[in-house]
Amino acid sequence: MASNIVNFFSGEDEQKIVRAIKLAEKQTSGEIRVHLENFCPRKLMNRAALIFEKLEMHHTKERNGVLIYIAIRDRKFAIIGDAGINALVEEGYWDLITERLGERFRNAEFVEGLTEAIESVGQKLKTHFQYSKDDVDELSNEISYEETN
Ligand code: CA
Ligand code: CA
Repeated sequence: MASNIVNFFSGEDEQKIVRAIKLAEKQTSGEIRVHLENFCPRKLMNRAALIFEKLEMHHTKERNGVLIYIAIRDRKFAIIGDAGINALVEEGYWDLITERLGERFRNAEFVEGLTEAIESVGQKLKTHFQYSKDDVDELSNEISYEETN
């Protein structure tokens, strides 16, 4: 089976996800990214942290970047935030979002799940990091992909 990860989402689906990110980032200075690969080559949280670093997601002024990392064919995913946002969210928040997203993924509702998660994370970021008129898009809104198969 062809499994070129870049083609996992149709152009239209990809646009829905990117639009959700843009909308979320219109309400907060926080930044959200989505990263996809087929397989997770190491421990999930280590991999997510490595990707966070690789994408230079620490490069936000308020350390409020959030990464949704997904290894599609391994059926694994993680949501991780930078120090700024992590210090402010309540215990169990990431678990809750992760649980909901996992439910969606199990039903193969990838786009719905992601747009929902992005919206929730956006709302959470909004309560802690205000959007200002001179906001800079510090991290790309495009989905990033990596070939690991
Ligand atoms: Ca921004
Ligand atoms: Ca952005």
